[in-house]
Amino acid sequence: MALKGIIFDFDGTLSPTHTRQYTWFQEWARQHDKELIHEGKKLDTFDKFMDFYNRTIAVNKTQGVYDALGLPCDMNNDKHPVWVGYERFKKENFVGLYRGMADALMYFKSIELRMSINTTNKIASIERELEHAGVRGLFESIITEETLFDYHGAGNPEAIKKPSKISLSLALEELGLSGEEAMHVGDTVNDLAASKRVMRLNPRRFEDIYAVGMTYGFETRDVLEKGAETKSGKLHFDALADNAEELVEIVKRLL
Ligand SMILES: [Mg+2]
Repeated sequence: MALKGIIFDFDGTLSPTHTRQYTWFQEWARQHDKELIHEGKKLDTFDKFMDFYNRTIAVNKTQGVYDALGLPCDMNNDKHPVWVGYERFKKENFVGLYRGMADALMYFKSIELRMSINTTNKIASIERELEHAGVRGLFESIITEETLFDYHGAGNPEAIKKPSKISLSLALEELGLSGEEAMHVGDTVNDLAASKRVMRLNPRRFEDIYAVGMTYGFETRDVLEKGAETKSGKLHFDALADNAEELVEIVKRLL
């Protein structure tokens, strides 16, 4: 394979934004004179909080996390004080990129790999972080929650978030690449599932994208190693990387 481009997930792949989730929930609880407690247990370390957070969000989405902690939130009302507070908190608290990632991105650019970001996050959070890290200009396209919302147009953009393959198909189109010229770097099995059997047109066909899982993100190495169960069978990452340096080595092997 001659690699020509890389599509990156953002949260947990380029940036450890889950560290900010912990500090944000601490802050929102503090503003309501509460502590982070779930089922009588204090979530007083990052690991305890993330374990609770991942299990809860998988079943009950973001609203469920707030509800389980007894903290005010309304996902259906973007004027709710929680969103005003959260946006302000994000503006004041940059997360940055994972160690070594900015250097890796600049290296990829120097060898003329085309790069795109494919995230279900909002453009505002992504762009601020990328600009702060000095890497915004390295990406030719950024596909976000807003893109999917506009693309969907029928009131249920959640349905085309990863593991739907729509955003990967769009990213390949934006970069002008076939699936076999591209790599998708993510941190969850949903990112993996989105990478395979991506529908392309003219001629109508499925394409697989080489999928790399970063083991430091929202899901642990154990979860990533198990892979994804899909209708067309069991999927596994083509490679796992523990850090940016290992990602660079994988990329070099595919050039
Ligand atoms: Mg992610």
